[in-house]
Amino acid sequence: MPQMRKCKNSKCGQYFEYNPARKQIYCCSKCRQEANHRKRNRKREYRKREPAPGPNRPYTADTVYLIHKWYREGMDSKEIGDLLMRSVENVQAALEKPLTRGQEKTISEISFAHKNVSQRHTERRLTKPEASF
Ligand SMILES: [Zn+2]
Repeated sequence: MPQMRKCKNSKCGQYFEYNPARKQIYCCSKCRQEANHRKRNRKREYRKREPAPGPNRPYTADTVYLIHKWYREGMDSKEIGDLLMRSVENVQAALEKPLTRGQEKTISEISFAHKNVSQRHTERRLTKPEASF
């Protein structure tokens, strides 16, 4: 008795003969392509809905961490704001947010290592983030 399975393509939903060796979830390659294609489209739509970058845009997971890090390295909120393309108020608000314990630990380790480094400016340029921050 062959095992029957319902096609994973929600538009199709047909039953097909399931071959356990092939671990098929779609009835045919056409359905598989269609389903994968739809998944990609959904992702693109999601990206489109994200807010356009602005000086007061919401923080990403790394923003608060970076702002705290640079501030402790001696940069002021204006400099940090310029680097991240954010407003000074936005940077200051991030400085009032607490860091996670893990981030706090990383920062104190970095600051310690920085004490004996003279080429701070070079490093700063290297840690300059992509515009997505
Ligand atoms: Zn199908």
